[in-house]
Amino acid sequence: MYVIDNNYCSACGLCIDICPVEAINIFGEYKIDQNICIGCGLCKEDCPCNAIKEYVQTA
Ligand code: SF4
Ligand code: SF4
Repeated sequence: MYVIDNNYCSACGLCIDICPVEAINIFGEYKIDQNICIGCGLCKEDCPCNAIKEYVQTA
């Protein structure tokens, strides 16, 4: 799963524009809706602040 670390996010908005399924929303801070995200990784690739991390679910 992909998660935005808001300690690094500069709120540039690029990830919202690039997400093909509009999974990223702003609720006070930038957040990925895990129910919508298809895990394409485009947002992580293009984030200029390296704010988006990929976590592998183990359980
Ligand atoms: S692309 Fe990165 S820095 Fe820009 S709004 Fe998204 S998470 Fe934040
Ligand atoms: S991984 Fe892909 S689908 Fe998920 S939030 Fe990022 S750009 Fe959107």
